Amino acid sequence: MGKKELKFNSKAIHGGQRPDAAYGAVMPPIYQTSTYAQPTPGGHKGYEYSRGANPTRTALENAVASLENANFGMAFGSGMAAIDAVMKLLSPGEEVICTSDLYGGSYRLFKGVFEKFGIKFRFSEIVDMDELASQITDNTKLVWVETPTNPMMNIIDIEAVSKVTKANNLLLAVDNTFATPYLQRPLELGADIVMHSATKYLGGHSDVIVGALAVKDEKLAQQLYFIQKSSGGICGPMDSFLTLRGIKTLHVRMQRHCENGESIAKYLENHHKIDTVYWPGFQHHPSYEVAKKQMKDFGGMISFVPKGGSYKNAIKIVEKLEIFTLAESLGGVESLVGHPASMSHGSIPKEEREKNGVVDALIRLSVGIEDVEDLIADLEQALN
Ligand SMILES: *Cc1c(COP(=O)(O)O)cnc(C)c1O
Repeated sequence: MGKKELKFNSKAIHGGQRPDAAYGAVMPPIYQTSTYAQPTPGGHKGYEYSRGANPTRTALENAVASLENANFGMAFGSGMAAIDAVMKLLSPGEEVICTSDLYGGSYRLFKGVFEKFGIKFRFSEIVDMDELASQITDNTKLVWVETPTNPMMNIIDIEAVSKVTKANNLLLAVDNTFATPYLQRPLELGADIVMHSATKYLGGHSDVIVGALAVKDEKLAQQLYFIQKSSGGICGPMDSFLTLRGIKTLHVRMQRHCENGESIAKYLENHHKIDTVYWPGFQHHPSYEVAKKQMKDFGGMISFVPKGGSYKNAIKIVEKLEIFTLAESLGGVESLVGHPASMSHGSIPKEEREKNGVVDALIRLSVGIEDVEDLIADLEQALN
């Protein structure tokens, strides 16, 4: 049976991988080298200089491509470097329409770096497809979607958006960091580019900063490889190895993240000190139907606002938590808690932030894979 036909869990372990050609090493060796001997000029074995390609990075790129059902993968030194590469497909004067509830770092990159080079960013809810179509101009080139969004857990209907982008000859890129290919595969839903902060769930152990892209189209892949090699924001061999090692347990970790996430979302929803819980698995979530349609399960990311919540109140709760570590990031095996207004979304102006629901009292959980009883007991003591 060819590896293309494998199901998801098998692909997490074997996808795009084969024993190393030199000695049959089952795990890809860490090719900690910048360059490769050539018996005659140009007579190399596919690797010349590690900015262009490195065998450990190739193994990771193939694994990500396999999981996303793509034909090509690229690994970068961070999620931001991956997004940076996508934006470099554009030319001055061209426009991007992106989800208004956006990862803070993406917002900063768009507004703080790329606007200076003449690329325009239009923020949109991307819930109503007629509204999206009306925002497209002659200069629009790309639609950038994050779903579930961070930290409000809004769900964008990727298939519906892809119909609009295809009809208007635009590229559709999806930041799939929160969902991972275990929960949703944007390319199968019509997207052109899928992006990951592999720092999060793909790596899964909070020990690397890595980014990735995956695409089906060869011409688009060649453009992105050209940018990757030219700008040089590549993922190193050691980090490629660690991310690959993480990917091999992605399906098992995600299953537990989802189970624990569901238990905690329901616990918070019934807690008398909680006002609102944002989790796409609730039937009353505004885009529950879309989530159910495009995701296998609902993930381990939850945001909530305590009753009568204030900035001070939220800070007190996050400081009181013991198992949930107060830290930036998400998607690792350990549970983390964050306060978006002062942490991940601190670079977005308060007014912008609050328009999207990121109020001062909002708390975000990345539910890990510990025993859920311990996690609930921790929340219980902090809330009381
Ligand atoms: C963390 C994150 C990024 C940025 O990735 P880095 O690896 O930190 O550079 C982009 N998008 C989302 C949704 C993220 O959570």
